[in-house]
Amino acid sequence: MDKKAMKKAKAIVVGGSISGLSCAHALVSSGWEVVVVEKTPSPPTGSPTGAGLGLDPLVQSKLSQWLMQPHLLQNTTMPLSIDQNQATDVQMKINRTLTRDERYNFRAAYWADLHNLLYSALPSNIVLWGHKFLSFSISDCGTSVEVKTKIVETDDVISITGDVLIAADGCLSSIREVFLPGLKLRYSGYCAWRGVLDCSGDEHTEAIEDLKRAYPDLGRCLYLNLSSGTHSVLYELLNKRLNWLWFVNQPEPVHEGHSTTMKVSSDMVLKMHEEAEKVWLPEFTRIMKETAEPFINAIYDMDPLERIYWKNVVLVGDAAHPTTPHGARSTNMAIVDAAVLGQCLRKWGVERLDSALHEYQSIRLPVVSQQVLHSRRMGLIKQGLVLPDGSSFNPSTALPKDCEDLQMQSMPFFSETPPILM
Ligand SMILES: Cc1cc2nc3c(=O)[nH]c(=O)nc-3n(C[C@H](O)[C@H](O)[C@H](O)COP(=O)(O)OP(=O)(O)OC[C@H]3O[C@@H](n4cnc5c(N)ncnc54)[C@H](O)[C@@H]3O)c2cc1C
Repeated sequence: MDKKAMKKAKAIVVGGSISGLSCAHALVSSGWEVVVVEKTPSPPTGSPTGAGLGLDPLVQSKLSQWLMQPHLLQNTTMPLSIDQNQATDVQMKINRTLTRDERYNFRAAYWADLHNLLYSALPSNIVLWGHKFLSFSISDCGTSVEVKTKIVETDDVISITGDVLIAADGCLSSIREVFLPGLKLRYSGYCAWRGVLDCSGDEHTEAIEDLKRAYPDLGRCLYLNLSSGTHSVLYELLNKRLNWLWFVNQPEPVHEGHSTTMKVSSDMVLKMHEEAEKVWLPEFTRIMKETAEPFINAIYDMDPLERIYWKNVVLVGDAAHPTTPHGARSTNMAIVDAAVLGQCLRKWGVERLDSALHEYQSIRLPVVSQQVLHSRRMGLIKQGLVLPDGSSFNPSTALPKDCEDLQMQSMPFFSETPPILM
């Protein structure tokens, strides 16, 4: 297609988290004008915003292209080259290896660092911080979309018009709600305690030395510890930070407002420490105890959607496919969504928007649907919950064949690159 014949197209992205900023990169690279609307007042920084996540090789390569300076990603992340599942026996005080994959090839990032990398590499003034999306309307001819947003500081409402609206507004997407009213997230049956212990300056303390003896591959290994009806995760982040999660089966908690992250009281933290001592090795429990401000995420996903675009409105990231975290998918899926969407828009141009969005959907929907369902299965296995065949996994008696689905590489499309990105 003759690029000169194309008009300069404009995308409005709602949500300035990982999906939204990735879409901004992908679309700017494809020659689009982009405006990102984000309700958070300013770019998030520092420790309160998030914890760790794993980046797969395809996503590493996409990020490196967008950042222009590949060393930035390398310098901001840690290798995660081993994926190890192990059964913890708290009585015997040992971890017994169930699976070990030394070709894992992921990298560990701190959420706020990744967000900052993406944001700093965008042209200035693309993101409208402190703008809450209110509503949209599609023009009669279906070729443009008008978005109304409220400036949070002043309560003023402004309108922005563009050719396409990209919903990157997360798992509780209000744009998805317009097309699929009443659709609810599915509670997984468990919540995750999460925390990041900052050991910078303290890396030679007894607690850290003991931890490194019990988990000798820290710094390059994703450790998944399995016990009866529960599992935990431990890996290292850059700057001597230790990222941990502990998944606990429990009824769906009542939580306030529009978030799946819950505030915790000091009593809850103390109780968590007591319970952890009954399940995990003392070296790991000690790390949990020393972590300031652990928090809880209630874990949800959603049955795969049948479609992820309507006219000139398209869903990406968690808005399109809320998922449980067991396959380290949500951020990776979000970034690949953005990259594929950018390539589809580049290929078809704004004149053939429907073809572009249709191709995006036909590439991504089969992949993300299977990945969400597989991640759900991994969660059931690791939490000892009942599987569709009526069985449940017990790490202390599991045979090698029972452990295959514990591994990250069991994820469908694990190392596949969509041809449009080659
Ligand atoms: C602050 C923060 C910290 C996180 N930390 C981690 C982490 O440590 N580890 C991990 O695995 N995942 C983390 N996540 C989730 C992770 O970003 C996502 O699961 C994944 O990357 C997909 O991202 P997303 O952009 O699709 O969704 P989200 O990250 O959920 O982003 C949605 C964005 O849309 C914005 N938004 C929603 N509604 C509106 C509206 N009406 N108007 C304007 N903006 C709106 C939200 O403020 C948010 O920035 C975090 C998310 C956030 C927002």
